[in-house]
Amino acid sequence: MGGHVGSLVPPRGRASEALRRSCGSSRLHFRAANMSDSKRGSILIVGSGIVGRSWAMLFASAGYRVVLYDTVQQQVTSAIENIRQQLTELERTGRLRGTFKPEEQMMLITASNDLAQAVEGAIHIQECIPENLELKRKVFHDLDKLMNDNVILSSSTSCLLPSKLFTGLKHVKQCIVAHPVNPTYYVPLVELVPHPETHSAVMEQTYALMKDIGQSPVKLNKEIDGFVLNRIQYAIIGESWRLVHDGVLSPEDVDLVMSAGLGMRYAFMGPFETIHLNAEGLKSYCERYAVGMKRVLSSFGPVPEFSGEVMEKINAVGSVSENST
Ligand code: NAD
Repeated sequence: MGGHVGSLVPPRGRASEALRRSCGSSRLHFRAANMSDSKRGSILIVGSGIVGRSWAMLFASAGYRVVLYDTVQQQVTSAIENIRQQLTELERTGRLRGTFKPEEQMMLITASNDLAQAVEGAIHIQECIPENLELKRKVFHDLDKLMNDNVILSSSTSCLLPSKLFTGLKHVKQCIVAHPVNPTYYVPLVELVPHPETHSAVMEQTYALMKDIGQSPVKLNKEIDGFVLNRIQYAIIGESWRLVHDGVLSPEDVDLVMSAGLGMRYAFMGPFETIHLNAEGLKSYCERYAVGMKRVLSSFGPVPEFSGEVMEKINAVGSVSENST
């Protein structure tokens, strides 16, 4: 990554500030001042399912204009209705994000079924179509022909590598993965994963945009299978599975280890902060515990099959919990 490709995203807070200023005295003034202001650029969401709707709400909550595009007309129509209901409910329960009323946020969201028109004026495109490499590559190919040299093309993919998604595109330097975590409206983490050719400015500006809408982005320096959240999550699932497989602990007690122990700690701090506090700093922790950590880690078993008897045993517990709620 390297170099600068111009100002792709408004500086932090500019969109929000402009909207706040124009909110002023009357609803009419608000509508006139914002809905016709095409200079600021908009966010294009491609795919209006679960994730597309959440992104739309997040961007609108920070004052960005949003265009929702989908190939299925009914999906966009129900997305708009669903967002309206969610915003009303969020306000009623005091969980609405941003400083704008639901109806003000709704005014920022429009629908489109014309991709070429939807791309016009976009500063950031967030793709949210199904997790299918061929489908995504086809849509990126279409977008590549329509987009200008300044817009950022960002994918919400959960696990497809940027080198698989974007290689061969004319605008590959403007492409990045911004992987959100469901439920996106409540969980702020976004993993930013560059293609090997992604411009550093694209990473920085996507990072700034995510911060501006109140998310907590992390920058991966290079792509890696599973990104980071899932690599850590899979390490935990793998060892949990082995403990049940080896007859050390019941599935219920593995869950309790997390919900009544490790998870409580990790809800507030990461593994490095934790080990800092578990001794007189990280170095002291390593001096004391490195030998033990290495011994335990080297005793971990192979990658589980995630099937067969162990799966049945863990599944039976899940089925009981579901039936008792
Ligand atoms: P979804 O099935 O709910 O929504 C997909 C939408 O894309 C649908 O509305 C569909 O009509 C539309 N679509 C299909 N083809 C299209 C095309 N060619 N152009 C425009 N729209 C098209 O899917 P989702 O759960 O919102 O997931 C979207 C992406 O986000 C996936 O890559 C997924 O891996 C990723 N993701 C999902 C979650 C999650 O928990 N659901 C979390 C993080 C990331």
